[in-house]
Order: sequence, then structure tokens, then C-alpha cells
Amino acid sequence: MKILFATNNKNKLSEVRSILGDSYHVLSLEDIMFQEEIPEPFDTIRQNSEHKAEYFFQKTKLTCIAEDSGLEVESLLGKPSAFSARYAGEDRDDIRNYQKVLKELEGIENRKARFVSIFTYKSSSSCECFEGEMEGNIALEPKGINGFGYDPIFIPIGGNCTNAELTKEEKNQISHRKKALVKLIDYILSKNNSDAQ
Ligand code: IMP
Repeated sequence: MKILFATNNKNKLSEVRSILGDSYHVLSLEDIMFQEEIPEPFDTIRQNSEHKAEYFFQKTKLTCIAEDSGLEVESLLGKPSAFSARYAGEDRDDIRNYQKVLKELEGIENRKARFVSIFTYKSSSSCECFEGEMEGNIALEPKGINGFGYDPIFIPIGGNCTNAELTKEEKNQISHRKKALVKLIDYILSKNNSDAQ
């Protein structure tokens, strides 16, 4: 099955391809030579996810999936959320972003946080959203070199190391993206079954 995944984020693309496996031919925006800025005009994760899927479906008429995700920190009243990628500035610098979170949490005991991922599936006949989350705590200092974004400062619940100290496979077992994708895949499979009947 051919699907356009509306992303330029190589880490997300590789995570999604490895979770979906060989039965899906996942095209990226690079594969369709799309080089402009991806539109993310809203201040909620869900609205940005829906908007991206709709935008690329209208542009290409291919079945599209889009994902928007972010980190929500309880003591920061849910920030940075939809602004996670640009928290410390428009240059989307992962290290400056997580350093900003660490600075804002200095001296604060409650370090609870969660990652949220919302996938939108858009085809000619439907538009559906699927949400996954990963709960955890913000570490006192960055550790590990794997993953991306806030992984070096995020300790998943029940764990004793950061996401960036896990292998890609270990993170994929528990990630917000994996949980949302499992729901999306169930939906695609049940849709294919009912379309075939
Ligand atoms: P966007 O969904 O491309 O707008 O970016 C979401 C941002 O949230 C990323 O740039 C990261 O900063 C953060 N983020 C989302 N998922 C993860 C993750 O799995 N690990 C670390 N950071 C993440």
C-alpha cells in the first residue's frame, strides 16, 4: 500500500517506516520533491496534524498521513506542546530547546511530562485522528546520544535512563508515535477489510 507521510523529519520517517514494515510503501515529502516549509499554523498539536494531512492530500491526491507531536511539561502548564520544535527559536535547535526546558525547571520538584503524537489519516473518503502518549519525567541533565529532540532529557515512566540512552527499537516499543501508529494501522486494516466486502 502506497502512503505519503507528510514529513521532512528523517528520524520520524525512519521510526514510522520501521514500525509499519514492508507491507507499506511510505513516501516522504523528499520523495515527491516537496521542498517548501511545511504549514503548521495552529497552536494545538491536533489542528496542525489535521491541517498537514488535508494540505498534502489536496496537493497530491495521494492518501496521506501526517503527524504532529510535542512535549507537554506539567509544571510549565503543558508547554512547549505545539511549539516544541521552535521552543528556543525559529532555527529549531534541539539542544537549545531542551536546555530551555531544563532552565525553566531549575529548582522545581514536579518534573512530570508527556510526549503526545497525533496522526491524521486523510483519503478521498475519510479523515481520522489517532493519538498516542508516553509519560515520564524530565531528567536533571541531558544523557545519551540516540533519538532526537527532547530525548536526552526525557526519562520514560518506570525507566531509569533517558530516551536517548535507548536503542531505536527499545524506544519504538513504548513511544507515543508507536501507540498512535498502532491505532492508525488497526484503522487502515479494518477499512481495507470493509472496503473489500
Ligand atoms: P513536529 O511534530 O515536527 O512539529 O515537531 C515536534 C517536536 O516535538 C520535535 O521537533 C521534538 O522537539 C519534539 N518531539 C516529538 N516527538 C519526539 C520524540 O519522540 N523524542 C523527542 N522529541 C520529540
